[in-house]
Amino acid sequence: MTEAYKIIDHVYDTVVVGAGGSGLRATMGSAEAGLKTACITKVFPTRSHTVAAQGGIAASLGNNSPDHWSWHMYDTVKGSDWLGDQDAIEYMVREAPAAVYELEHAGVPFSRNDNGTIYQRPFGGHMQNMGEGPPVQRTCAAADRTGHAMLHALYQQSLKYDSDFFIEYFAIDLIMEDGVCRGVIALCMEDGSIHRFRSHAVVLATGGSGRCYFSATSAHTCTGDGGAMVLRAGLPLQDMEFVQFHPTGIYGAGVLITEGARGEGGYLTNSEGERFMERYAPSAKDLASRDVVSRSMAAEIREGRGVGKENDHIYLHLDHIDEKVLAERLPGITETGKIFAGVDLTRQPLPVVPTVHYNMGGIPCNYHGQVVTIKDGNPDTVVPGLYAVGEAACVSVHGANRLGSNSLIDLVVFGRATGHHLRDTIKPGSPHKALPKDAADLALSRLDHFRNAKGGSPTAQIRMDMQKTMQKHAAVFRDTQLLQEGTALMQQVNKRMEDVHVTDRSLIWNTDLIETLELDNLLSQAVCTIESANARKESRGAHMHEDYPERDDANFMKHTVSWFEGWGGKGGKVTLDYRPVHEYTLSDEVEYIKPKKRVY
Ligand SMILES: Cc1cc2nc3c(=O)[nH]c(=O)nc-3n(C[C@H](O)[C@H](O)[C@H](O)COP(=O)(O)OP(=O)(O)OC[C@H]3O[C@@H](n4cnc5c(N)ncnc54)[C@H](O)[C@@H]3O)c2cc1C
Repeated sequence: MTEAYKIIDHVYDTVVVGAGGSGLRATMGSAEAGLKTACITKVFPTRSHTVAAQGGIAASLGNNSPDHWSWHMYDTVKGSDWLGDQDAIEYMVREAPAAVYELEHAGVPFSRNDNGTIYQRPFGGHMQNMGEGPPVQRTCAAADRTGHAMLHALYQQSLKYDSDFFIEYFAIDLIMEDGVCRGVIALCMEDGSIHRFRSHAVVLATGGSGRCYFSATSAHTCTGDGGAMVLRAGLPLQDMEFVQFHPTGIYGAGVLITEGARGEGGYLTNSEGERFMERYAPSAKDLASRDVVSRSMAAEIREGRGVGKENDHIYLHLDHIDEKVLAERLPGITETGKIFAGVDLTRQPLPVVPTVHYNMGGIPCNYHGQVVTIKDGNPDTVVPGLYAVGEAACVSVHGANRLGSNSLIDLVVFGRATGHHLRDTIKPGSPHKALPKDAADLALSRLDHFRNAKGGSPTAQIRMDMQKTMQKHAAVFRDTQLLQEGTALMQQVNKRMEDVHVTDRSLIWNTDLIETLELDNLLSQAVCTIESANARKESRGAHMHEDYPERDDANFMKHTVSWFEGWGGKGGKVTLDYRPVHEYTLSDEVEYIKPKKRVY
C-alpha cells in the first residue's frame, strides 16, 4: 500500500448497509429490539431508489375486490414461472397485510376509498380465484408516489428508535473471518476518512444492479455494491440471468411510467393503431405479466409495427381516461410525460419501450434474511453474521419474473423478518472478539489500486462498453449466438478494467473514484448475468432463449448459483452451480402449487 490510511473504529450490534425501503425497515426492526444499530448509506436515505416506486405495494386486503392470501400466492408462483421458493412466497403473502397496516400506522398516507379503507388498484398478473380471474385490485397506493411516502415514514421511525445514520458513506468491502461476517469497511465521502465497523451482523440492503445495462429505469446509484462485496468474499449470487424489462420506460429517456397507468385503464398500440396485447394475452391483455408484455412489444417492433420515425417504439394511451382520474390517481406520471416526452397525456399517446427495471437475482438468502451458500453439498448453508434484504437479495420470491408491486412488499416483509431474526439471536451489547489484523486489507488495497490507476481507459468508457454489450447481448430476446458472443465480449470488457484511468485520486474529490468502485462492482455482476444466461438452455420468465423457446422443468427447475473470481479486471472466471427450488410450502394450510403452462 502506498499510503497509511486514517481508520476510525466503530462497534455496533448490527450494521445495515443501505437505507432504501428494505434497509430502513431492517434498521427500524433492529433498533426497536434494543440492538445498537448503524445504517450506512451512500445517498441520503430518502434519495434511495425506493423513492421512485410509483405504482404501489401488493397485499390481499380485499378492500376493492374480493381477495385471499392464497390467490396472491398463486399469482406470485405463476409470475415467477415456478422458479420462486414456495415456502418464502407463502411467508411473504401471509405477512403482507400486517406489513401494510404497519406502514399505515407508521405514517404512510395511502390513498383512500370513500369508506376510509386503503385504496387498491389492479396490477399485471394479479388475479382472483387462483389465477382464474377476473383481475383483482390488490395494489395499495399512495397516489403514484408510494415509495416516496414509504421512505419518509420508515426513516422517521428509524430515527425514533435511535439508530445511528452514516450518510454519504460508501461501503467498500465486508470483513470476513473464517467464513463469518464480522463487519464492513466504508469511506466517508465528505472528508475522506476510512471507517471500520465491527458488528455481530451485517445486513446488505444495497438494491439492484440495473446499471449494468444502457437503458434502465433504476437510479444511477443502482450498481449492485452489496452483490459485488459478496462475490469478493468468495460467496455466490443466485439467478442473475433473470433481469426484468418493464414494458413502459419513456422512449429515449428510460424514465418509468408505472404499470398503474395500465391498471387505471391505459393500453398499448402499434403503428397500425391496433391494441395488439389482445392477440398475445387474450384474457389479461395489457395487464399480463411484465415479461409477456415486454416481449410482445419487442415482437411488434421486430416485425415492423413499431411507431415513430424509426419504428422502434410503441404508444401507451391514457388520453381516453377522465382528466379528473388522471389528476387524482396518476399526477406524477402526467408531469413525467410532459417533462420527459413533451406529451400532454390527456390528448396524446406516450412513446414507450421495454426498459431494464428489476433484478430478480441477487444474494441468496432464506426467509429470515440469512445469506446462504452451497457448502459440502448443502445448498442451504447459512453464512453466519450476514443478511441480505430487498432487491439486493434473492429469497427467492420472484423466481424468474417479479410481479408489479411485489417488490415493495418484499422490502418490508423481509426487512421486518430480518429485524425479528436479529432480535431473537443477538443479545444487545454482547462482547465482540477482536477483529483479524487484515480486516481492512481488501478494501484498502482496492482503494489504493484505483487511486493509482493511470491506464488508458476512462471509467466512463468502460462503463459504456459494458452497458451497450449487456443491452445488445442479454436483453428481452436472447439466443445462443448472441449469448456466446456476449459472454466473450463481457470478459474482454472486464479485462479492460486493468487499464482503467481514474481522474479524481483524492479521497475527498472522489466522484470518479467512487464511480470506478461502482463500475468494478457492476462488472462482476454483468459477467455473472450473461454467463448464467448462456448456461440456461430454456425459456422461463424474463429469460427468453429463442433456441430453447419452452420451459424445461426436467433440466432447469433450479436456481443458478454463480461465483466470480477477482476484481479490477483480474481473474474474471465464473463458476456455476445449481440449488434446488424449494418445492414445499411453510404450513399445511396451502399445498405446493404444481407447475403448469404459464398463459395470461
Ligand atoms: C422507477 C421504479 C419504480 C418502481 N416502482 C415499484 C412499485 O410501484 N412497486 C414495487 O413493488 N416495486 C417498484 N419498483 C421496484 C422497487 O422500488 C425496488 O426494487 C426497491 O425499491 C428496492 O429497494 P431496496 O431497499 O432494495 O434498495 P434501494 O431503494 O435501491 O436502496 C439502496 C440503498 O443502498 C445504499 N447503498 C448501495 N450501495 C451502497 C454502498 N456501497 N455503500 C453504502 N450504501 C449503499 C443506497 O444509498 C440506498 O440507500 C420500482 C423500481 C423503479 C426503479
